[in-house]
Amino acid sequence: MRIDLHAHTSASDGTDAPEDLPGRARAAGIDVVAITDHDTTRGWERAATAAARAGVTLVRGAELSCAVVEGGGDATAEPITVHLLAYLFDPADPDLAEQRRILRREREIRVERMVELLAADGFPVELARVRQQAGGASIGRPHVARALVAAGVVATVDEAFDRYLHQGGPYYVPKADLDLFTAVRLVRRAGGVTVLAHPLARRRGRVVDAATIAAAAAAGLTGVEVDHTDHSPADRGLLRELAADLGLLGTGSSDYHGHNKTVPLGAELTEPEVYRQLVARASGVEVVAP
Ligand code: AMP
Ligand code: FE
Ligand code: FE
Ligand code: ZN
Repeated sequence: MRIDLHAHTSASDGTDAPEDLPGRARAAGIDVVAITDHDTTRGWERAATAAARAGVTLVRGAELSCAVVEGGGDATAEPITVHLLAYLFDPADPDLAEQRRILRREREIRVERMVELLAADGFPVELARVRQQAGGASIGRPHVARALVAAGVVATVDEAFDRYLHQGGPYYVPKADLDLFTAVRLVRRAGGVTVLAHPLARRRGRVVDAATIAAAAAAGLTGVEVDHTDHSPADRGLLRELAADLGLLGTGSSDYHGHNKTVPLGAELTEPEVYRQLVARASGVEVVAP
């Protein structure tokens, strides 16, 4: 059984429509795929309808934008950005739904600022165009990157990130994210399970230490993404060991974004037994079986 538990659609910063994800998964020989758009469940319904037709099992989820301050609450410490995969939670849970709304509003504000900064420096980008292209998606830097590609400023989304949009880059603007521990608890209360996404993706910026992952485990975290393209072999080894020590599940996923990234669906996979345990611990919504 081939299981890929992390994929984005055009409901956030992927390029496949939610209704196309299950068919793509099927074509890639995948049996179970998770839809995990950033801070939104907007693609759930369309993906679920398509999954039933494509004969693929769909795990409904989201990737929540979180932050954590290390160093025992030192007020001067900079928060570290972390992504939290949340699976099978109740989408109607009011507290979690409210946090998703806040996170999406933060995304809007932050993209607006980034586009303003770019335009002020003479880059031919317009907020109205970027938003129109996003089409109501949970907006993010890849949408700005695509606008830069469309304007001929850069050749690829990757080049836009490398030159202008990466964390600490000339046009990077931070956004206010949800506290990691609060997020873990909220998802649990909504019947979901959580997996820390690409915790050691070092090229994206600062990453969390083992003590923080242990604290998240104590708060109710269920797993960590071990096999991810942004993880070195050594870091995968570290994470596997840490997961075993802390009683966390270790997953593997592609973090597919369609044309916005080069990683194909099924590039990394999750063990069937790990998948079964994840599902067994969730109660918010069911997996959509064909
Ligand atoms: P945001 O959610 O707006 O902070 O943007 C983060 C998203 O940008 C990630 O989820 C990835 O989809 C994408 N991303 C981050 N770094 C890169 C990169 N170096 N090249 C291409 N896409 C990236
Ligand atoms: Fe993304
Ligand atoms: Fe992520
Ligand atoms: Zn992702």
